[in-house]
Formats: sequence, C-alpha cells, structure tokens
Amino acid sequence: MLAAVLDNIKEINVREFQNPTIPTSGAILKVHSCGICSSDLKFINHGDRVKEFPAILGHEIAGEIIEIDKNTSDFNVGDRVALAAEIPCKKCRPCLNDLENLCDNVLSIGTTIQGGFSEFMPLSKDLLVRGPINLIPQNLTYNQASLAETLGCVINAMDFCRMKSGKTVAIIGAGYMGCLMINVARLLGAKKIVMIDKDAKRLKRAEAFSADIYLSTKDLNSFVQLALNEVDNEGFDAVFAACSNTEAFKQSILLGGKGAYINLFGGINKNENDLVSFSSNFVHYRQITVGGTFSSTKNNHKT
Ligand SMILES: [Zn+2]
Ligand SMILES: [Zn+2]
Repeated sequence: MLAAVLDNIKEINVREFQNPTIPTSGAILKVHSCGICSSDLKFINHGDRVKEFPAILGHEIAGEIIEIDKNTSDFNVGDRVALAAEIPCKKCRPCLNDLENLCDNVLSIGTTIQGGFSEFMPLSKDLLVRGPINLIPQNLTYNQASLAETLGCVINAMDFCRMKSGKTVAIIGAGYMGCLMINVARLLGAKKIVMIDKDAKRLKRAEAFSADIYLSTKDLNSFVQLALNEVDNEGFDAVFAACSNTEAFKQSILLGGKGAYINLFGGINKNENDLVSFSSNFVHYRQITVGGTFSSTKNNHKT
C-alpha cells in the first residue's frame, strides 16, 4: 500500500509500505480521509511523542472496516467509522476519574501505534473495544467525519470552560481550531465572541465564521485593552488561547472577568521554554480558573 511514512525527523516520504496484517480479534480499516493536525507538524519537525521510526502519523481518521477477525466488538465489515487519537486503558486513576484522554497507559494512534496517513490501517482489539471509534451517521461524508476528532477536542475545551448560553468568549488564534471554537461557542449560545490574531490575513479568512468582532494586532500587549473594550471592561467569561505562544497565554489571563475560565489550549514544542508568569492577585480576587485541556474522550468524539 501507499503511505506517508515519517522515516526520520523532518523526513516524510510518500512510499510503498507493507500492508498491515489483521490483529487477533481486530480489523482492517480502509482509510478514506485523514486530517493533518498541527501536532503532526510537531511530530514531524521535532519528533515529539514518536516512539520509533519509521512511523505513520495521522489521528483524524474516517474509513470503512473491510475485514474483521472475530466478532469481539460491536463492529462489522462495511461499517463506516471515525477515529480519534487516544486509546485509554480504563484502569488507571485518570481513566477511573473520567479523564480517559489523560490515561497513564495510553496508546496514541498516529504516534505510538500506526496512524491514518496510509491506505489501510490495523485496528487492534483494544482499539475496537476501548478506543475512540464511533460509527459515522449516514448524513456525513468521510471528509466531514474525519473532523470529528478536532471537534471532540473543542468540545472538551468548551466543557472545561463551563460554556453555556449568554457567556462572553475571547479566542486568541484564528487557526483551524480557533475557527471551530467560534462555531461551537455560537451553537452553545455565546452572547459575544471576540476573535484575536496577530496575523491579519489569517483573521480575514476566519471571517467566514460567526464571531462578532475580529481584532488584529501585531503588538501582543495592545490587544488586551482593545478586547476588553468590547465587553465594557468587565472581562470575558471564557478565554481560549488556541495558539502555542506563551506571551499570548500570559495576555489571555488578563482577559478573564470575575469567575472566568481560561483555557491554555495549545501545547508548546518540547524544546521551548513553556513558563508563563501572571499576577496571582488578579486570579485570586477574580476567582479565575486557569487550566488547559488536551485531546478528547470517546464521548467528546461521539458528540
Ligand atoms: Zn490532533
Ligand atoms: Zn488509563
């Protein structure tokens, strides 16, 4: 089969690769669609999370089950399925606390096990039984369904911020995830959504989505006041820093209003300094919750 194979750091080749053999009590998936995640770029450029080379990345997957070993799961040949990234053990402390996405013994599709940048991929019994795999509704195409992984991550991020009707929302970073956040926040009834990015071109593209205000600023210090003006200086109820920039993380906290939730959504490359300093009094007296969310659970993906 053909696959996009990561043969080494910064060395990805579309080439012949041996067809997968069907795992015991597992299945073979014919991949129809697989999204490229910004984390894939981290894996390609820095080798983050990749256990060994060659590796086949890709965790935003939609395809069809074309072969199944034994009926040990709820799936059948011909099923259209979408997959997300993390296969949890369901036994460790995070798993038992409904944090399957943070499993201590996680198997990650597209890094620790083969991903979807290939024509076919093996689905282990563990993946079929415990993994983030869901049937695709009839009205969705494979391309649409492959976006469910990213949407699951956004839903996890919204849950952390207790998103509900009437909230004011600031999003820093008009990349794909930031744009998705606009629409999900809107669906959840956000009262006002302000999108901020230092790249005016990217911000322009994000106008296809339904934010109320688009703020472009080259100076990371100046956007805070500009954004606060949009909510009468009261601060936002939910702030999503959908970027990988510690300076933006620092500013995102200053956008928080009383009782706000700040989600530092982007990871920082493993060789970069990820320290962020902020005023503890600002957070304390406003009862602000600063945190982050990573990946998604099977339920986030299903939603
Ligand atoms: Zn991803
Ligand atoms: Zn676990």
